[in-house]
Amino acid sequence: MAHDQHSSSSKSENEWLDELGFEAFRVMRQNGTERPFSSPLCRTGHQGTFLCKGCGADLFDSSAQFDSGCGWPSFDKEASKGALKEVLDKSHGMVRIEVRCAKCDSHLGHLFPDGPTASGMRYCINGVCLIPQ
Ligand SMILES: [Zn+2]
Repeated sequence: MAHDQHSSSSKSENEWLDELGFEAFRVMRQNGTERPFSSPLCRTGHQGTFLCKGCGADLFDSSAQFDSGCGWPSFDKEASKGALKEVLDKSHGMVRIEVRCAKCDSHLGHLFPDGPTASGMRYCINGVCLIPQ
């Protein structure tokens, strides 16, 4: 098999587990969900950006964060167009839009069109995927 140096998804599952630790690996590489209200990032107030724990890509700006009360960190837009990838998710008997990091293809959370701000969007993101910077 050809070695692809350009693709971060060529990382083995063991390498991901080493880098991310068990909880982030379970969420980001196995489409898991962290326990609601378990992330310290549910609270707004961080000033700066939120980076992808998988690859360091800039995913969200703190100005986009709002307190949705849903139990997961929530944002109303991505840091820049194309930072995130949207995938149709029909698991668990629901039709939802899954949100992935466009760069490393890690699962982050889901996107719901019921946000309270002007964008109308609510990116419901597992805090364990994010590094506040
Ligand atoms: Zn990433």
